[in-house]
Amino acid sequence: LPEYAFIGRSNVGKSSLINMLTSRKSLAKTSGRPGKTQLINHFLINKNWHLVDLPGYGYARVSKSSKKVFQKFITQYFGLREQLVTAFVLVDIRHTPQPIDLEFMQWLGEHGIPFSIIFTKADKLKPKAIENYVEAYKAILLETWEEIPNYFITSSSKDIGKEDVLEYIDTLNSNMDLRSN
Ligand code: GDP
Repeated sequence: LPEYAFIGRSNVGKSSLINMLTSRKSLAKTSGRPGKTQLINHFLINKNWHLVDLPGYGYARVSKSSKKVFQKFITQYFGLREQLVTAFVLVDIRHTPQPIDLEFMQWLGEHGIPFSIIFTKADKLKPKAIENYVEAYKAILLETWEEIPNYFITSSSKDIGKEDVLEYIDTLNSNMDLRSN
């Protein structure tokens, strides 16, 4: 089955987003404590694709050596996954663009792994501020990329962006069905 990976810095709101997308609150537990999601979890959605919950990266309080372990873990995941269609890189819309996120996107690009960006916690900003933020982010991306990747603006607490993300995944899935038929 096609797979979609969700990844981002610790505390970016990944568990909350996964809860929103899956509407199965008992499965992906949220927590206010950064760095809690550490294992790779798979969720089967609509019996036709897998949502893969990858460990958060860039957690300031973990040691250099455990960062290495994380990196290896994540690298291994991306090295092995033949089913992976797209990675969703989560970015907290309240924070200035983080080098670690940009580096990670760069890394995905270098390895030919398609990705989209999911901006999280949009409820924290006014619409105009969201617009400004996204424009600034795009400008930074254009320093290294020829094209802007797909992006989504979401809020798990206000239930924003859920359908956009799910419809995008459905579209990719049906394109794959067409190709395999
Ligand atoms: P994870 O570490 O990336 O899995 O992040 P969590 O989903 O556990 O969320 C981290 C913190 O951000 C928690 O305190 C959440 O309540 C908060 N949070 C997550 N999503 C949202 C959102 O859409 N809006 C707001 N305002 N807070 C959020």
